[in-house]
Amino acid sequence: MTKTLTPDGLMVLSVLAVAALCTLLWIFARARRHGGVAEVPSWLMFGWDGAAWSPGVIVINRDARNKPALLAHERCHQAQQRRDGLLRFWWRYLTRRQARLAYEVEAYRVWLDVSPGDRWRVLHILGNSYGFGLTTAQAEALLESAG
Ligand SMILES: [Zn+2]
Repeated sequence: MTKTLTPDGLMVLSVLAVAALCTLLWIFARARRHGGVAEVPSWLMFGWDGAAWSPGVIVINRDARNKPALLAHERCHQAQQRRDGLLRFWWRYLTRRQARLAYEVEAYRVWLDVSPGDRWRVLHILGNSYGFGLTTAQAEALLESAG
C-alpha cells in the first residue's frame, strides 16, 4: 500500500509552510525593529525562554521572568557564535552534548553575574534541561569550575 498526498493534503501542507515562513519573517522583522531582540508570545517558544539564533537575532519569550539576565545569557551565546563561527556553533550545539554543556555553563555564569539570586533556578535549569541529566551538585561543580 502506498500513501499519496491528496490535493487537500497538499493544500494543508502548503498553508502550514506559508504560515511557518510568515512567522519566521515576522520574528526577523520584529528583531530588526527592536535592536536585534524579538519578544514573542510564549506559545511560539515551545517551552523555551530564549534563543540566540545568530549574532544579530535573539528571540525571547515576552513573559520570561528575568529578562535582563536572560538577555545577558543570550548575548553570551551570540559572543560564542562570533568566536566559533555561526555554523560551527550550531553544529556543535546540536550534535555534541559536551559542547552544548560548555556553551551553556559559560552562558549561565553570565546569567548569575547579572542575577546572583537566581542560583537555584539556574542549577535546576542546567541540571534538568538541554538533555544534560546532571545532579544539582554536578551542575554546581561545573558553574564553580574555572571557566
Ligand atoms: Zn543558553
